[in-house]
Amino acid sequence: MDIDDCSISSIYFYGVAKMTYNWCHGPKCHAYTTQSRVRGSKGNKVLRTIKIKETNWNKDNIFKYFCNQNCLYNFLHKHLEEVARIAPRREPLETPIKDPVKNENNYWNRWTIAKKEVDNV
Ligand SMILES: [Zn+2]
Repeated sequence: MDIDDCSISSIYFYGVAKMTYNWCHGPKCHAYTTQSRVRGSKGNKVLRTIKIKETNWNKDNIFKYFCNQNCLYNFLHKHLEEVARIAPRREPLETPIKDPVKNENNYWNRWTIAKKEVDNV
């Protein structure tokens, strides 16, 4: 049995996948005074980072790592420059469009802006 076999057997137990959890990555998550964060025995209570269960709803989005938007934005503010360096944008992107058409009858007098069909031939 090599190390890969070990990791697989730790994920599956009698054929049932174990639940996957992540600790909230919010840098101040453990400092918010909510009942859901209180852990420990009487006389030794703490506020603990929220443990997030991966579900069908959050398995493919950012909320498998953050318990709420507040923790997400705290993380982004704390690590702003590192996050921007992951995929730097040094030039603008452009989407080809048809000439905009003004809608005179529209209450808000908005313009219709249609993207050009991309010809991949
Ligand atoms: Zn949190």
